[in-house]
Amino acid sequence: MRVVVSACLMGESCRYDGGSKPCDAVRDVVGRMEPLLVCPECAGGLPVPRPPAERVGRRVMLRDGTDVTEAFERGAGATLERCRSFRAPLAILKAKSPSCGRGLIYDGTYTGRLTAGDGVFASLLEREGICVVSEDVVEACRPSVEHPVAIVVGTGLGHIKELVHPVRRIPYAEIPGFPADARTIEGHSYEAVVGTIEDVPVVVYPGRIHLYQGYSAPQVTSLVRHAHRLGCRDIIFVCATGAVEGNATPGIGIITDHINLTGHNPLDRPDNLSSVESPFVGMTDAYTPYLRTLAHGVADDKGIGVSEGVYAGLLGPSLETPAEVRALAALGVSYTGMALVNETIMAHALGMNVLALTLASNAAGSPDMTHESVLAAAEANRDDMDTLVSGVLRLL
Ligand code: SF4
Repeated sequence: MRVVVSACLMGESCRYDGGSKPCDAVRDVVGRMEPLLVCPECAGGLPVPRPPAERVGRRVMLRDGTDVTEAFERGAGATLERCRSFRAPLAILKAKSPSCGRGLIYDGTYTGRLTAGDGVFASLLEREGICVVSEDVVEACRPSVEHPVAIVVGTGLGHIKELVHPVRRIPYAEIPGFPADARTIEGHSYEAVVGTIEDVPVVVYPGRIHLYQGYSAPQVTSLVRHAHRLGCRDIIFVCATGAVEGNATPGIGIITDHINLTGHNPLDRPDNLSSVESPFVGMTDAYTPYLRTLAHGVADDKGIGVSEGVYAGLLGPSLETPAEVRALAALGVSYTGMALVNETIMAHALGMNVLALTLASNAAGSPDMTHESVLAAAEANRDDMDTLVSGVLRLL
């Protein structure tokens, strides 16, 4: 996978003060990718060392009052041309910088205060459709023994637990909030497996329960809260769906967003909120763009065909009517299913990084969509799904 990286994060002495800002997490991740190191400020011809620069409105000013906007724009434009020929889907850039910063940058007072905004180069890359993240995102997604990756899998996809070198098992019956009377569905197994995949610490939950079985939103999200309590910061959901005709075709997909049509929400219960600051959780980027980009990168590298799209969470258990499928298509929905949305809301509220992969086994609402057809599609796509999940873990 190709990646554009701020040179100073890799240890190059290109900063205004003549130093660098090496980041171990970035160096580790980039070591498993094909990187292009860039320094847009150097490309703009700015000397090193020099006084610090900050964005002041639309301008970029050095602390001594010199206006360096033109040099920043020239360097960003020239570096963008290099990035275009390199064709990387991802850029890992130095946080807060007036050139490379994304989301928050120094506010022009030269006091260390931050304001909302993007650096000159970062904003060009974003306009280009490249996923831009800072080293903070890479660090926040980095797994460890203390922060294993949770993987929650749905119907027919429990084989992912076979990738695990197990260390211990946790019966779901021991998980707080998981219903003691949970009824088994074929294709689901009720025991979490703790161990490693590709030497990455993981906790795999090879089965889930659903609202349509009569369980509540707090019950169906109990596995997510359990993973969070175990220290998991990243959570990968793998679920079976139907593909909405016109917007998606059967096969493997990456969920970009969701529409919650279940009529339920796990944040409407006070007993579910102990680790959540506020129930009024913003849901923008609930499906972590960085993780989605890694999944696309793995798919490209391995030659796995994937599409992406919006998931509509439905209560079920009846399938969609033709009119509902047409309505969902008009709403921009690509995938339909009876899981995921409440779990993602819970995970996002807990501050977890979410990746949702799906296997669309049939056309949404198709009478051909039976439990058996879902299991058959899962089996047929088993190797690709395993490769995708393992590949993402290897890049984290
Ligand atoms: Fe680092 Fe970017 Fe500044 Fe260069 S322009 S020193 S790469 S933050």
